[in-house]
Amino acid sequence: MVFDYEEAKSILYPILKTDDPLNIKKRNALARTMRIRGTNIFVTVYRKNKLFPRRDYYTLAHELGHIVLGHFFEFKNTSLFRGGLSDKEYAVLEREAEVFAAEFLMPIPVLKGINIKTHEEIMSICKVTKTSAQIRIEEFKNFKINQDKQMYALYTQVQKQFHNFIYSRHCVNCGYGIISSEYIYCPICGQKLQWGDGNMIYNDGYELDKNGRAVICPVCGNEEIGEDPDEQYCIICGTYLVNKCTHDYDEINNFTGEIIKPACGKIVPGNARYCPYCGSETTFFKDGILKPWQEVKKQLEALEFDEELDELPDDYEMVSEDDLPF
Ligand SMILES: [Zn+2]
Ligand SMILES: [Zn+2]
Ligand SMILES: [Zn+2]
Ligand SMILES: [Zn+2]
Repeated sequence: MVFDYEEAKSILYPILKTDDPLNIKKRNALARTMRIRGTNIFVTVYRKNKLFPRRDYYTLAHELGHIVLGHFFEFKNTSLFRGGLSDKEYAVLEREAEVFAAEFLMPIPVLKGINIKTHEEIMSICKVTKTSAQIRIEEFKNFKINQDKQMYALYTQVQKQFHNFIYSRHCVNCGYGIISSEYIYCPICGQKLQWGDGNMIYNDGYELDKNGRAVICPVCGNEEIGEDPDEQYCIICGTYLVNKCTHDYDEINNFTGEIIKPACGKIVPGNARYCPYCGSETTFFKDGILKPWQEVKKQLEALEFDEELDELPDDYEMVSEDDLPF
């Protein structure tokens, strides 16, 4: 259980019968944790940092470190009271909790996964203070994954756990968000993707089979698409049924014979207007089967607005034209 100091004073008073829970003030501590005797329940009280709220994450991660690393059990204290430990023991435990907090808030496998470059990026992604981020970026630069099997297993396990976080890509242009390690360009608007979560879903595409062919003809609605993957045109209206990258030839510099842009032609998802691998237009987009994203975005936003109106409480009266003072 976690309480901030002010909260704790009133909530914990009936139990602790003190105005200074866990002696935070008396010891001039930022945070303290105690274990309720005979249980696995821990109570942490911390002083909120009003100037730098980011500091709180570190404070709490540090306290969590003491719990997770078993400091309360090995040392048989109900709390990390300095009295029961030598200064040297205390310093070791403190150092352990500090290292835990850094690893917990700024895990190296994740920083590697998203290819961090600066301490500012660490600050914004991990919500830590400048000082912590500056220390971490140096550790990050010096970090080398070694041959230790256990270490390697842990490293990959953390990356797996954060897979969706690491591979979240979003487009600042159209707001589309996807999880992919391979996509470079936004399949909706063709811009370069950036790391992070998106806020728009363009679900106006068509369901495709594993060969990239529409399951139902997007133009005439014909549902009888042949089994043979070579049958790529609708037999009713003649529409090309495969959504793929239109850049299927090597683009060559006529003077030097050098390849400027190699052939791609990859099959793409049913809502892709642009190839996520090379940024070229897709067949569905060229053929007008998919509308430009700007149009769809407008429609989606209008829909959202309608939903907001639906959510208005019953007693909310819309101003009718009759009420207008002119
Ligand atoms: Zn500590
Ligand atoms: Zn986009
Ligand atoms: Zn058709
Ligand atoms: Zn392509």
